[in-house]
Amino acid sequence: MRNNWLAYGRQSISEDDIAAVVDVLHSDWLTQGPMIPEFEKRIATTCGAKYAIAFSNGTAALHAAYYAAGIGVGDEIITTAMTFAATSNAALYLGATPKFADIDLATGLISPSSIAPLIDNKTKAIVAVDYAGHPSDIDELQALANSANVAFIVDGAHSLGAFYKQRPVGALADMTTFSFHAVKTITTGEGGMVLTNKEDLCHKLKLFRTHGIEKNPAFLIDDEGPWYHEMQMLGYNYRLTDIQAALGISQLSRLEQFIDRRRQIAAAYRKHLQDSALFLALQEKSFVKSAYHLFPVLVNKEKLERKQAVQELHKDNIGVQVHYIPSYKHPYYQIHVNGKEWQKKCPNTEEFYSRVLSLPIFPDMSDDDVASVLTALDKLEHKYIG
Ligand SMILES: *Cc1c(COP(=O)(O)O)cnc(C)c1O
Repeated sequence: MRNNWLAYGRQSISEDDIAAVVDVLHSDWLTQGPMIPEFEKRIATTCGAKYAIAFSNGTAALHAAYYAAGIGVGDEIITTAMTFAATSNAALYLGATPKFADIDLATGLISPSSIAPLIDNKTKAIVAVDYAGHPSDIDELQALANSANVAFIVDGAHSLGAFYKQRPVGALADMTTFSFHAVKTITTGEGGMVLTNKEDLCHKLKLFRTHGIEKNPAFLIDDEGPWYHEMQMLGYNYRLTDIQAALGISQLSRLEQFIDRRRQIAAAYRKHLQDSALFLALQEKSFVKSAYHLFPVLVNKEKLERKQAVQELHKDNIGVQVHYIPSYKHPYYQIHVNGKEWQKKCPNTEEFYSRVLSLPIFPDMSDDDVASVLTALDKLEHKYIG
């Protein structure tokens, strides 16, 4: 058994990352300087998107994307509950209501067939989450969004660096949001981004990020002089700092390295779990390359309860975690968002939640760390299967 705690995820910070941050601290700009547009340009290029707009975190990015999609009071979005609460919270910020479609048990992704019955004349957007780093069913979801004439948004908090049918995640939907929280693919501490190919959305996103204030003379209603700018809508201060953007640029240079290492670890887990009667790995579809933000497995409940599995792995210093408590299950959603009804309508989400746990996976995990997880899994296999 390992003698120190192995977290399920953590950042990888290099000396170059640290130097990049220190350089900004010595420069003239701590915010709104040259690092932000440079970081945006590099993310856009990496993902094949025309525009990338940086935000202070992934939740702000979602809030802005929903605003730009025209979502407001009384509108609805259709999304998944197998995600971090922020995905649907951002709709609530705007006075809109989330509806929860069920998931595919093999992947944990939103199931296109369970979306169709939820579409009505209040629906403004379909929001997919690339759970664990596996891209959503883009073609099916885009077709659904087109036929309903609603926006298609991807919460790609897990999937920077992933590919769908040879195309990078980031420009596969009307808008894609990323998070640069410490456990995500690359980090800026806190940070986020929205990517889009549409100029009008880009303009709205930028206004939303900076108080709704317009400075570009081409878009001003009046012009009273060189100092002049206009607040044209009620926006927020959702900006990233140059300090953070410099860290992001430095981190981005290691994106492929990060994904390669995550995929190596995932391959080791898959190989080991092939014959397991206790833990089932999720599917990786043949036409995608997952970013493996997480490595969730489903526990065979007839042999071992998930809670027991978590407790025993924790005793062995393996920091497994559960992703996610379905959003509708949180007390706020139970009280204010009809949570109990959604619970009944999402049997796969319920089943998935009752069995899922995430094994540790992050770029700086050593081969010994991986081996210690496999040893702990074997121990359970012997104890509960024999
Ligand atoms: C991390 C995460 C977010 C929120 O990102 P923050 O940067 O923490 O605000 C949203 N959705 C999903 C699926 C996430 O994992």
